[in-house]
Amino acid sequence: MDRLSGRAPVILLVEDDDGIARPLVAALKGSGYDVTRVSSGQQALANAAGVDAVVLDLGLPDLDGVEVCRRLRRRAPQARVLMLTARTTEADVVVGLDAGADDYVTKPFRLAELLARLRALLRRGAESVPRERALLVAQDVRVDPAARRAWRGDEELELTPKEFEVLRLLVEHAGRVVSREQLLRDVWETTWGGSSKTVDMHLSWLRKKLGDAASAPRYITTVRGVGFRFENNDDEQQPSQPVG
Ligand code: CA
Repeated sequence: MDRLSGRAPVILLVEDDDGIARPLVAALKGSGYDVTRVSSGQQALANAAGVDAVVLDLGLPDLDGVEVCRRLRRRAPQARVLMLTARTTEADVVVGLDAGADDYVTKPFRLAELLARLRALLRRGAESVPRERALLVAQDVRVDPAARRAWRGDEELELTPKEFEVLRLLVEHAGRVVSREQLLRDVWETTWGGSSKTVDMHLSWLRKKLGDAASAPRYITTVRGVGFRFENNDDEQQPSQPVG
C-alpha cells in the first residue's frame, strides 16, 4: 500500500516476451502492486492514464521503446518509467534516459533488483508530486519538472537527466545554498558511489550550458566548502512600469 494515498501503486508492465512477463507479473503482484500487463507500444499508450509507474521493455513489436517512452512522458507525465533493456551500450542507455526514462534495468536482471529500483522510483514520485505541478523560475531560467524541460530565456536547454535534476534542485532552492551532500543524496541517490567530484563535474557542464562562468557567475555561485547557490536577483530588479 502507498502510505500517502492508501491504495496500491498501479504498475503498467509493457513486455512482449511471455517468458519475462509472467514471472514479473507474479513478483509485482506479490509485492502488492496493482499490475496491468500489455504486449505492445500502442497498448501501453492506451493504458497509461493514471498509472504510477511503467516498466517498459525497449524492444517492442510495434513501436520502439524509446518512442513509447517519449509519448508516455506527454500522455502520462505523472508516471515514473523504468526501462527494461537488453541493449547495454552506453549510447542506448543515454538515449533511453533522454527520452524521459527515470531509470533502467538491463536484461537479464534479478527480480529483487528490479523491485528495489521500482520502489525507489515510486518513493521519489510520491514525494515530488506536489512540487512537480509548478514551473520553477529564477532569473530568466525556467524549469518544468513534469515535462522535464528547462529554458534560459526563450532557448531550451539540452540537458542530460542528471544535469536536469541538478538544475531543478538548484532553481527550486534559488537564493539558498544547496550542499554537495544534498545534491548527491537527491540527484544521485547514492545508489552507486557518487563523489563530490561527480557533483563538481556536472556543475561545470551545467554552467557551460547556461553560459555561466565559475569565476564571475551570473547564475550558479560556488559557496566554498559548502555547495552551490542559484542566484535569484528578484530583489534587484526594477519593478515593471504599469501599462496604460
Ligand atoms: Ca521485447
